[in-house]
Amino acid sequence: MTDTNNDALNDEIVERNFFDRTPEDQEAFLTQTWCNNCQAVDLGMVEPKEYEQNGVIIVEGKCAKCGEVSLTEVADESTDGEWEDER
Ligand SMILES: [Zn+2]
Repeated sequence: MTDTNNDALNDEIVERNFFDRTPEDQEAFLTQTWCNNCQAVDLGMVEPKEYEQNGVIIVEGKCAKCGEVSLTEVADESTDGEWEDER
């Protein structure tokens, strides 16, 4: 990460390790996908990354077919820390 100007925007990103997930979880994320570009499900994705932004866990990867970045918000009830849900 580069050290850009601190804009004090509310977009704090915390890196997480996608590969800490169980193999089943990883498999699901990598295969059960939706690609906006292809307009198709389950094309699969590659180069997964995981991070937390504003308390929302996001898994990011690239569509295995077209390479478009796809983001998946993870509803993870076991997340530490509280966060408001759409209020
Ligand atoms: Zn695609």
